[in-house]
Amino acid sequence: VKVLLKQYKAEGRITEDDFAINQSAPVPQEADLKPDEVAYETKFLSVDPYMRGRITGSRDSYVEPFEENEPLDGYGSAVVTASKHSQYKPGDILVSAHLPWVKYGVVNLGSGSSYHGKITKAEGELAKVPLEWHVGVLGMPSYTAWYGLEVIGKPKRGETLVVSAGSGAVGQAVIQFAKSMGLRVVASAGSEEKVKYLKETLKVDEAFNYKTVDSLANALKKACPNGIDLYFDNVQGEFLDAVLLNINVYGRIIACGGISQYESHRHEQYGNKALMMIVARQVRMEGFIILHHYDRYNEFVKDVMERINKGQFHYKMDIAHGLDKGPQILIGVLNGKNFGKAALEV
Ligand code: NDP
Repeated sequence: VKVLLKQYKAEGRITEDDFAINQSAPVPQEADLKPDEVAYETKFLSVDPYMRGRITGSRDSYVEPFEENEPLDGYGSAVVTASKHSQYKPGDILVSAHLPWVKYGVVNLGSGSSYHGKITKAEGELAKVPLEWHVGVLGMPSYTAWYGLEVIGKPKRGETLVVSAGSGAVGQAVIQFAKSMGLRVVASAGSEEKVKYLKETLKVDEAFNYKTVDSLANALKKACPNGIDLYFDNVQGEFLDAVLLNINVYGRIIACGGISQYESHRHEQYGNKALMMIVARQVRMEGFIILHHYDRYNEFVKDVMERINKGQFHYKMDIAHGLDKGPQILIGVLNGKNFGKAALEV
């Protein structure tokens, strides 16, 4: 099975018609391999909001566009089934930020190949964890939460942090790192069930359903009586304005994503109205692309493994079974259908 992008869509909602499922891909055998080639079976694939940007066909997005009529690719884990590369053997675990959306694949991992360094072997402790952890608790969004909060946010004990999309892949990790740093944490999500998870499992100080409150600004005012010091922004749009209206002097905004805008048509995009508050309250707003900051990944793994071993870290995953569900799950992530980190078990 392979999942291919049929056509680019510059703006608006993607649908299943934008993808093709190819069922007839052959299973590669050892005899078919050339020197330096490795055959693998894909196990887990991460389904992430940034993939929408790769479907616009525009090079303005911060990640290269997918190729039309070629498989999508993204974060994932796989197991080697056959190898003609001296450093890989059957059973080795492969991890990558660019694993194609195919069940069985062959890749040249020789030093001159385009995949050299893009697909690597999980080593040491990382070779022993459950395969879904590479797209879950140790995956890119969880690391994004850790890095964004610590390095961009520079939180101080006692400060109030707000995080949007709180029950998602990034959000749930932000909440737990922030709580352990002694912050007061307020989170939002798009359903009562998600809000319950934020309160009961993740133990946020306040949580609300952003879809049902009368006014976002009033909901934040009520939830943050001492104002907002830090905002971990996953959504932009109207929510960002509501935060700006409640932000404290020297507040910081960790600009992580803007999912409320990813699928809007250009003429429908939300025009922020409260940006002057950045000046008035002397706010620092800083964006980052985690792809460029993997230098601290080992430190993150050590930290999270310690928390897991002490039973102090929850990471809810929303795993769909079967690669052919990929398009449906990606569409779901952009529409708030996922509850926890969205992934495919191939
Ligand atoms: P999630 O697991 O949080 O899934 C996306 C969630 O966004 C949905 O479940 C939905 O939850 C929420 N959502 C969808 N539409 C809207 C909307 N219009 N307004 C508010 N919320 C909405 O995704 P991730 O945790 O993986 O990603 C969160 C954000 O972080 C994204 O913007 C993503 O692009 C960004 N990101 C940035 C990175 C970087 O390097 N800068 C790296 C990784 C992620 P709900 O039911 O609550 O609405």
